[in-house]
Parts: sequence; C-alpha cells; structure tokens
Amino acid sequence: MAYCILNIALDTPLTSSFDYRWPCAPGDEPQVGQLALVSFGRREVIGLILEVRHQTEVPAEKLKDALAVRSQLAPLSAQWLALAAFAADYYQRPLGEVALPGLPKNLRVLTTVALDRALKKLDKPMAAHDHTPFDMPALNPAQQQAADAIGGAAGFNPILLYGVTGSGKTEVYLQACAQVLAREREGQILILVPEINLTPQLEGNIRARFPGVMLATLHSSLSEGERMLHWLAAHQGKARIVLGTRLAILASLPNLKMIVIDEEHDPSYKQQEGLRYSARDLAVWRARQLGIPIVLGSATPSLESWHHAGSGRYRKLELRERAVRDAVLPRVKLLDMERDKPKDGLTAQLIAALRQRMERGEQSLLFLNRRGYAPVICCESCGWISDCTRCTSFMVLHKPEHRLRCHHCSLEMRIPRHCPTCGNVDLQPLGRGTQRVEEGLQQMFPEARILRIDADSTRRKGSAQAAFDTVHRGEVDILIGTQMVAKGHDFKKLTLVGILNPDTALFSQDYRASERLFAQLMQVAGRAGRAARQEGGSVSEVLIQTRYAAHPLYSAVVNHDYDRFAGALLDERRQAALPPYMYQALMRAEAPELATAIAFLESARDCIEHEGITINDPIPMTMTRVHNVDRAQLLVESASRPVLQAFLKAWLGAVREMKSRVKWSLEVDPLDI
Ligand code: ADP
Ligand code: ZN
Ligand code: ZN
Repeated sequence: MAYCILNIALDTPLTSSFDYRWPCAPGDEPQVGQLALVSFGRREVIGLILEVRHQTEVPAEKLKDALAVRSQLAPLSAQWLALAAFAADYYQRPLGEVALPGLPKNLRVLTTVALDRALKKLDKPMAAHDHTPFDMPALNPAQQQAADAIGGAAGFNPILLYGVTGSGKTEVYLQACAQVLAREREGQILILVPEINLTPQLEGNIRARFPGVMLATLHSSLSEGERMLHWLAAHQGKARIVLGTRLAILASLPNLKMIVIDEEHDPSYKQQEGLRYSARDLAVWRARQLGIPIVLGSATPSLESWHHAGSGRYRKLELRERAVRDAVLPRVKLLDMERDKPKDGLTAQLIAALRQRMERGEQSLLFLNRRGYAPVICCESCGWISDCTRCTSFMVLHKPEHRLRCHHCSLEMRIPRHCPTCGNVDLQPLGRGTQRVEEGLQQMFPEARILRIDADSTRRKGSAQAAFDTVHRGEVDILIGTQMVAKGHDFKKLTLVGILNPDTALFSQDYRASERLFAQLMQVAGRAGRAARQEGGSVSEVLIQTRYAAHPLYSAVVNHDYDRFAGALLDERRQAALPPYMYQALMRAEAPELATAIAFLESARDCIEHEGITINDPIPMTMTRVHNVDRAQLLVESASRPVLQAFLKAWLGAVREMKSRVKWSLEVDPLDI
C-alpha cells in the first residue's frame, strides 16, 4: 500500500498543523483544501488539509493515520484558504483556530453515508415557500442612482451607502443584487446584518423578490442540521444569496461576486472573544482579494469608513431623504429632567405624548439600554449595596424572577429579605431597568398593551421573533426595549420614540463612547415615522430625557447632523492621535491577583526592543475583577499598520518564550479600551 502525508490544520491554540498518514495510490491523493477526520488526543476532529507530501519529520512510530477524507466535498478554494491565512496572520492566531470553528459541526460527526444523504437533499428542488407577493417599489432617483452605481460596479469597489434611517437602503441592496444576479449567471452574493433578529424580515423580502433563487442563512441560532445544509449550499455554489451575521464572513463562497454589509457601523460585527476579528474589515479584504464590489450601508457610518470615504478610498453614495412618500425624519426634542422631574422614570411631557399615541391608535417605543428591574439594591440604614462578590460590579435586581443576578459572571441568588449587614428589612431598588419601567407603565396605562423586549424576555428560542411579529401586527401599544429593538426594524405604526437615561455614556472613559451613543440614538430615533403620516395622525417624534440638554452630542441628534458630528469627532481623533489615525493592539492578562497580571504585562512590555511603536504602561481594566479574576491591559500603538503588524509578530514570539503561567491574549484593532 502506498501512503502520502497530509499536513492538516486543527483547531488548537498553539501549533496550527500536524502530519498524518493516509493510504492512497499515487496520482489519487487528497487535495489541499479538503477536510479530513483525524484523531487528536482522545477526540476525533475535523481538520483542513494544507499540504500533501511524501515525507515527514514525525517519527514513524508516532505518525497516526487520518481516519477519513471527506472526498465527497469539493475542496475549499485557494481564495478561501488565503482569506483564512490572512485573518490568522492579521489577528496573530493559528490558522486552524480561524479556519475550523466556522465549519458546521456535523461535518465532524457525519458518516459518509449521512453526508451523501445531506448532499442529495440539496439536489432536490427547493420547497416552494409561502410568501406574500411583493411589489417592487419604483426607486426614487437617489435610490436608482445608488442601485445602478452598485449593480454596475466592476472590480474592487468599496462603496459607502450613507442613507438616513428609512431612506430605503434595503431596496437599493436588493435591486443592485438583482442586477448582479442577472449578469453573473452563477454569481453569489453575501449579505451581512448585525443582528440575528433582523434576518427574518430581510429573508422574507429576499425570498419574495427572488423566488427562483436559493437563499442560505448563516447565524448562530440554526440547528446543527440546518447549519450543515446551509453551509453546504453556499460551499457548492448553489445558494446564490447568503444572508448571515458576522460569522458568515468566513463562509465558503466559490462564486462570490458582491458583498453587502448592512448597518456597517454596528459593534456586533466585531467578535468579542476568541478570535477577535472584525467581519467588516475581513469583508473589505475579501472583496479586494476577489476584485468585487462591497457595499457598506449605514445612517451613521463608523468613523473608520467615514474617514475612508473622505479620503477617496471608498466611494460615497448618499440618500438624504426617507423613501416612503410623506414620511419625514422625526422631530427630535430634548426633555430637560431638571425642569420636568420624572415620575416612575418618565417626564410629564413623555407621558402626555404616550397618551396621545394611545388615543390615536399609534405605537410608541421606549428605549432604555439596561435590562433587569434595578441595577442595584441598597440598605438605606447602613449603606449596604448588592455588590457581586466575584466581580467589580453589582447584582442586578430581576423582580419578576425574584432573583439578584450579576450580568458579568452569572452569579444568582434569591432577593435577600433583610439587609445582610444590619438586618433592616426595607431594602430599596436604586435606578431603573426595563422591568421597572414596564411596571410603572402598567400602572400608568392599565388599558395599554405593553410589551417588553430584551435579553430576559426573549430567552426561549423563537420568542424574539414572536415578539417582533406581535409589534408588526399592531397588537402592541407601547414597546419597551434595550438595543435589541433599536436596530434596523421597520415598525410601520410607530410614531413616538422615548429615550430614557442615555446620559451615562456621555462621560465614559472609552473614547468611542460618544460615537457609539450618537449612532445608537440616531438608530433608535430612526424607528419613528417610517410610514406616511396618516390623516389626523401624529407628527412623528423622538423625545430624549436628559440632564445635559446643552451637550453638543444631543444638538447633533436634534439636527440629524451626522456629517458635522462625525467631522468634529474625526478632528478630535486626529489631534489626540487615536484611530483611525493610529493603529492599536491590546494585550490583556488575567490572574487571581491584580499585581500578578500587571507584573506579567510589565515583563511583556520590556521583553523586546522596538521602534516606531508606543507601548503604554499596563493598567487595570475598567471592570477589573470578573468571576474572581483580576484583569489588566497593555495598549500598543503605531501610526503605521505594517510597522505594528511586524512588531506584533516578533513580540508575541518573545512573550511566548517567557513561558509565563499567566493567561493572556492579544486583540488587534480593539474596540473597547
Ligand atoms: P433603511 O434601511 O434605509 O432604514 P428601509 O430599506 O427599511 O430603510 O426602507 C424604509 C421603508 O421604505 C420600507 O418600508 C420600504 O419598504 C420603503 N421603501 C423603500 N424604497 C421605497 C420606494 N422607492 N418607494 C416607496 N417605499 C419605499
Ligand atoms: Zn443595612
Ligand atoms: Zn459577578
């Protein structure tokens, strides 16, 4: 029997690839990019064949045979492998950690027979879906121009579609897609959205618009079976449109011809654990590599993209008006909480506005980005407060569940009946979360249909979708929610948005906080007045309750003035030498004692010579302790990306050589510092 040697990438933290033996006749070897099943330690795992050779340095007695090669599947393309290699290199992680976690798990456990069966399933014509036929609205001139520019773009062409909320960006994407699909007979299009809850509405639109076209969806709430089918449909080039959240950026798409990133500014495009990649940045790289257009859409672009549009690297297309005739941007008003003291968290003016909407049969949305009943409870007689014993944070009161919960380490306990320190039985909630606002509303408006949408109310699978459907059917008068309700949704009957308590973000240490707050306020404000105003209906309004009515961020929101606000922020960033004018990486370390983490980072700081790089001093993270570990961070900066990249590679090598037992990680282009 003849053998060859397969060098196979596995999902392991340090070394990225290993040699295995595989029996094969010469000329009939497996191909690079194919998947193989191997035993690793005590597990059987799927790996990616990187190289097929005839020799290995692994001694014969240690060399294991691969268990199977998934030869039924076409190999992952050289371009896909290059994408994974780029991401691994850029984010300083082993290739296997980038390439493998995104593959469907069922590829590991499936037998050849079952794999064949799954592949056959895809060969069947798609079941006809039940969709309401959909009129393709005639585009307005600005939309038409944008759709033609995108649909007709050739080669690598990054386009920033800057359109106010409700300007009909979706329609532009869809008509540009129609052009690309008509031109490219086998072409595929990848559409990314920031949030799972936004997929059903868009999925419905796409299916209705392109009934003959296979659509695959990729997001984290698919069952393993579904994920496998959808991944295969994309990999085989059968799905012409792939709609997904950030993880879909690593999908195998052999005929990719265009990428769309909706709400490109959204922080959820950044993965916040493990491989901390930016799906948006990888998408731009992928588009450049393939020489295809990419559309980045937003009403409040990220400063990075805005900067690129300003410097001419991205082409900027604008939609300045709402698409629906007679729908206008809502009137934004600041309600001064110093003058109009709130009752149950709501000012008299906001209550009056809610009452008016109720009377007219219109919907209102109250936005409060804090779930739970109250962020903390306290004892007024001795000053005890509900600290988390494991974190630098509080235990949040969840009244309907009768629990205190830490949102950082998930510690839970029953609500104490009396103060643990002095025995006082009168413990008081401090501050206000969505549950408490809901309770106040129920007392104030006993006849209203009130619905709360947040992570707590939508824990069950499918419950978020059910809740959004209720709103769309008009069966809700007042919706209260966290950022889950702020993004993207097109609620037609909504004419009032009330924003509670946004002030805390104004004084955050995080230099990105104001960019993020502005985007969030514009997004949530953008939910109001998306349909034409009804005869006798309300002018759509956004009411922001604040103690800092004179703050320039709020005047920018009142004036819907993203341009000026973004310009001012960019000036500040330039002067302060912050991104996008500076490139950053953040090393984090954690240990039971803060001093250990800091000492580790100090040694890391000093372990290598450097030039053109600023290494700051280690500092404790803002939330220092989580789940009984203390965390510290070290910021590294350079005005040149290549200089930073070269430094990181050498530096990480040196840090690994330190062989410290302290747990550490590195993030390139960190969002939260
Ligand atoms: P955006 O994503 O820019 O916030 P959407 O794409 O959700 O906006 O569009 C807002 C609303 O406008 C939707 O209800 C959509 O159906 C409608 N719409 C879009 N384009 C047109 C058009 N040309 N004529 C009429 N209505 C339109
Ligand atoms: Zn007490
Ligand atoms: Zn905790």
